[in-house]
Amino acid sequence: VDSPTTSRRPATLGAAIAQWRTLLGDQFVICDPAALRRAGTATFATTASIQAIVRPATRSEVAAAVRVAVDHRVSLYPFSSGLNWGYGSRVPVRDGVLLDLGRLNAIVDFDEDLGVVTIEPGVTQRQLHAFLRSRGGRFWMDATGASPDCSIIGNTMERGFGHTPAGDHAAQACGLEVLLPSGAIIRTGFSRFQGARTAHVSRWGVGPSLDGLFAQSNLGIVLQMSVWLMPAPEHFEAFFFMSRDPEGLGPLIDALRPLRMNGTLRSVMHIGNDYKVLTAMSQYPWDETGGRVPLDAGQMRVVRDRLGIGSWNGSGGLYGTRPQVREAKRLLKSALRGRVDRLQFVDDRRLALLKRFSGVFGRLTGWDVTRTLAVLEPVYGLMRGVPTDATMASAYWRKKEAAPVSGADPDRDRCGLLWCSPTLPNTGAAAREMTGLAVEILLSHGFEPQISLSLATERMSICVITISYDRDQPGEDERAARCYRELEAASMAHGFPPYRLSVASAAEHFATPGDGYGNALAALKTAWDPVGVLAPGRYGIERTPSPSP
Ligand SMILES: Cc1cc2nc3c(=O)[nH]c(=O)nc-3n(C[C@H](O)[C@H](O)[C@H](O)COP(=O)(O)OP(=O)(O)OC[C@H]3O[C@@H](n4cnc5c(N)ncnc54)[C@H](O)[C@@H]3O)c2cc1C
Repeated sequence: VDSPTTSRRPATLGAAIAQWRTLLGDQFVICDPAALRRAGTATFATTASIQAIVRPATRSEVAAAVRVAVDHRVSLYPFSSGLNWGYGSRVPVRDGVLLDLGRLNAIVDFDEDLGVVTIEPGVTQRQLHAFLRSRGGRFWMDATGASPDCSIIGNTMERGFGHTPAGDHAAQACGLEVLLPSGAIIRTGFSRFQGARTAHVSRWGVGPSLDGLFAQSNLGIVLQMSVWLMPAPEHFEAFFFMSRDPEGLGPLIDALRPLRMNGTLRSVMHIGNDYKVLTAMSQYPWDETGGRVPLDAGQMRVVRDRLGIGSWNGSGGLYGTRPQVREAKRLLKSALRGRVDRLQFVDDRRLALLKRFSGVFGRLTGWDVTRTLAVLEPVYGLMRGVPTDATMASAYWRKKEAAPVSGADPDRDRCGLLWCSPTLPNTGAAAREMTGLAVEILLSHGFEPQISLSLATERMSICVITISYDRDQPGEDERAARCYRELEAASMAHGFPPYRLSVASAAEHFATPGDGYGNALAALKTAWDPVGVLAPGRYGIERTPSPSP
């Protein structure tokens, strides 16, 4: 049980903590300064401090905890698993109390005919994956490249994305049950009708659709959500390609777009630059560079040749019946002819062979198959909806120590990680422009421009640009923050707004009071959260200021 340090807290907070303790039990109201410091540490410098962590176990406990916050005017920031690494982890935009929903972790329902699970906020990728396996594996979930311990609902509330045809998470969610700060419950779509049989299979319902109001917002707390799964396909093959040409990205996007639009490529597929692939395979070569940063274009040429990677490296999945996958392969080969230097297909059989004979292949060809497999296998799994923690090592790129073999924790280990994620239309010209901008800005601030481009939908890509550094190096936090601000502003100026904000973002620019959008949100916030206790400032959403007397 934590020892409260109420003497330094405002009286209202002290009173709220006392009430939460009575409601939830002492061990579920955390005030221990070391625990609060840990929870208040992200992968970049933040300013807000955490005053307490409240951990309800049931929906009625959540409602009661929110009531206490409203009564005492204490800001409450909810999270599902709180592993929002690279965007702020658990750290809020302003001082406040964290509402940890991780104990609400029931898989409430599974419709095995229609492929829908209904879950609570604490359900993790690991849990859902194990559950679906235990039920025969007829349906696949979509997984992100973040840890298996990340939640499904938290990621969906950030509109995160993964690797399969169900990779656009917010597009696969419906039937939300949402608690408003007033204590009212909103059920979205058809789930508002008692006994509606379509509650979990339609996003729109009848009348205005409210689902979109609760993602990237601070209007309500999502207590339950239904998620559509994909039926396990008869056949699956992954493809991997690379282009050595530094100017190869534009032609690749223009060749892939028609296949994404006509349904040949159904999944979110990813293209990473050389820096991105290198950080997945190793840590910064401190010895070779004599400690100098960043790795420049000349050094990257050598790295590319040594590792056999391209300037641009893509991967994706083909899903369907055997004839459908065969035809998709034919179309893909034809579209990429002349645009790639290597195109390979991998299925379960080929992967097993590669693993079995990796030593022989290696000796015969000089190709480091074991190292390639260490990167390829987790990506192959992600395309089948299998979560992995293998990707976490990339967060340790600039650290001097190796990533832990298990239990990676970039917040604790002071990894510097900041993601800026502009959106672009799926055209080669836009991809060239945005990636060119990112390379220039990151190198000028002394960071390697690690870039991935995900064809998130038929028409839109998300460009994830990683600012990776070591928080233990003096001055790096400030340098990363400057770089991030410049990159975010430049992307906006070029017409590429971000798909998601971090707590380092200039959030006030995204729901500007005075414009129609900002005013509408402020009016909703004022009506639904008149005291302003729920995650104030998140995504720039604020109550309408009261007129001055
Ligand atoms: C190596 C690596 C790879 C990554 N790969 C990916 C990737 O492929 N795709 C991707 O999307 N992300 C990725 N991430 C980023 C991030 O870690 C994930 O998006 C992660 O799922 C977010 O954390 P979470 O699920 O714990 O969400 P949380 O931290 O629980 O939630 C995020 C935010 O959503 C809101 N929220 C959460 N739950 C609720 C609720 N119940 N009601 C209302 N609001 C709520 C809160 O404002 C909260 O702060 C990656 C991170 C790393 C380090």
